[in-house]
Amino acid sequence: MSADLAALRQELSDLHAELVRNELVAWTSGNLSLRVPGEELMVIKASGVLYDDMSAEAMVVCDLHGKVVEGDLAPSSDTFTHAYVYRELPEVGGIAHTHSGYATAWAARGEPIPCVLTAMADEFGGEIPVGPFALIGGEEIGEGIVATLRGHRSPAVIMRSHGVFTVGKDAQAALKAAVMCEDVARTVHFARALGEPLTIAPDDIDALYDRYQNVYGQR
Ligand SMILES: [Zn+2]
Repeated sequence: MSADLAALRQELSDLHAELVRNELVAWTSGNLSLRVPGEELMVIKASGVLYDDMSAEAMVVCDLHGKVVEGDLAPSSDTFTHAYVYRELPEVGGIAHTHSGYATAWAARGEPIPCVLTAMADEFGGEIPVGPFALIGGEEIGEGIVATLRGHRSPAVIMRSHGVFTVGKDAQAALKAAVMCEDVARTVHFARALGEPLTIAPDDIDALYDRYQNVYGQR
């Protein structure tokens, strides 16, 4: 294993602990991947590995067509999905996938999460869109993700009857979007249960998004 790939496999293994810590996954569901900078390669979790058994060895290096390049285990059943997204969206450096409960409840209804919170405008720049139903294993999910996210500011898509896929400049950013997606899915769920959430004007959504993406935080 090359030193760079070993470090990336360890980094990605460590990030998987955040899926558990943020209560986004159950049993072996969910996964993270990252694009190997400057290479036509990605690193992704192996299939069916328990989160307690996560390690650099449980991460698999694949090319961007899902073929294993390094690693002893079979890669995630979502590998072709991730590979398709990396091929089609060159700006994407990391992908997260979860079946987190509240967001997936929206997926089960096939309903986008409306942008009714400033935190949603900040992170997603609008509603969190719904992607089409697709069977697992091939490139169909990836096609649905790319078709939905193109033309959207949202780094998250809720795939109908399935769960959440998020993208980011790196795996950490994709993970953050998955955490924020579940957080707002829960809040808007409660708001909806108690009444009709108030809308935010499109100009205000634009202003919030611009401030958060370009001004907020440490520079
Ligand atoms: Zn899934």
